[in-house]
Amino acid sequence: MEKKYTTITVVSSDDAESRYLTIPSVHVKRWKMYATVFIIFISACLLSVILLSIGIISSGMEIGRLNTSVIKLKNDVKLIDSLNIRNKVGNIEKNINDINRYLFDRGVFRNNSAGGPADSSAKIDLSIYDYYDKHTEILLKSIKITPVGVPFTGELKSDYGYRNNPFSGRGSEFHKGIDIKGSTGDPVKCTASGIVEKAEYEGGYGKSVVIKHASGYITIFGHLSAYGVKPGQEVKAGDVIGYIGSTGRSTGPHLHYEIHKEETDVNPQNFLTLK
Ligand SMILES: [Zn+2]
Repeated sequence: MEKKYTTITVVSSDDAESRYLTIPSVHVKRWKMYATVFIIFISACLLSVILLSIGIISSGMEIGRLNTSVIKLKNDVKLIDSLNIRNKVGNIEKNINDINRYLFDRGVFRNNSAGGPADSSAKIDLSIYDYYDKHTEILLKSIKITPVGVPFTGELKSDYGYRNNPFSGRGSEFHKGIDIKGSTGDPVKCTASGIVEKAEYEGGYGKSVVIKHASGYITIFGHLSAYGVKPGQEVKAGDVIGYIGSTGRSTGPHLHYEIHKEETDVNPQNFLTLK
């Protein structure tokens, strides 16, 4: 079938030569369809641009909301921290108040606040801070000459007090100290500052060290394999006074640790922690 053409004359308004546009007639008949497709395409493009813009804007808003949430969370954490700190400081204040009242009742400290003994439930008097600022040094000095803490970190094998005879297993005996298990050569540390009174072999104690403290306490370390100090030497808490062994009346390497007060043995377990 012969192909038909349509000629479109483009007439110029300024008397210039007219132009002719010849296109297949079939396209002229379909112009409505082409126009519709074109309008749909443009509309789809516009819709995409609009949707994309809305997406970007809502993402930005979402990021803004998230940022606000993060800032709020950070502030909440700060608030919880400060509340926790305030609680702890409150507890410390209560304890200082209790210590103050105890020491005042014991006649140790002068009571700064007029009107009778401190009331532990009341808000702490700021003058107490001044007071402890001056007196904590004295407290520290007292702590340093009192045997506090462990001479060696190890398993507690035998308590202070009556126990079965560790050699025969029959009958009981009074154990004047505590036994802490260790390995031969492990360092044994002094528990308070003082002067070494003895560092010598002493019967059942084997190689032992005796330290005299200004607080009136005496500490004894037994069954050592070697000495770390000499008699007359000044020592402080943490200094190595000897090494774990099994000398004297001992069933294996361990430290025998005693604390005496006014020539009487006391339970060292009460001095291992601040409980
Ligand atoms: Zn012992």
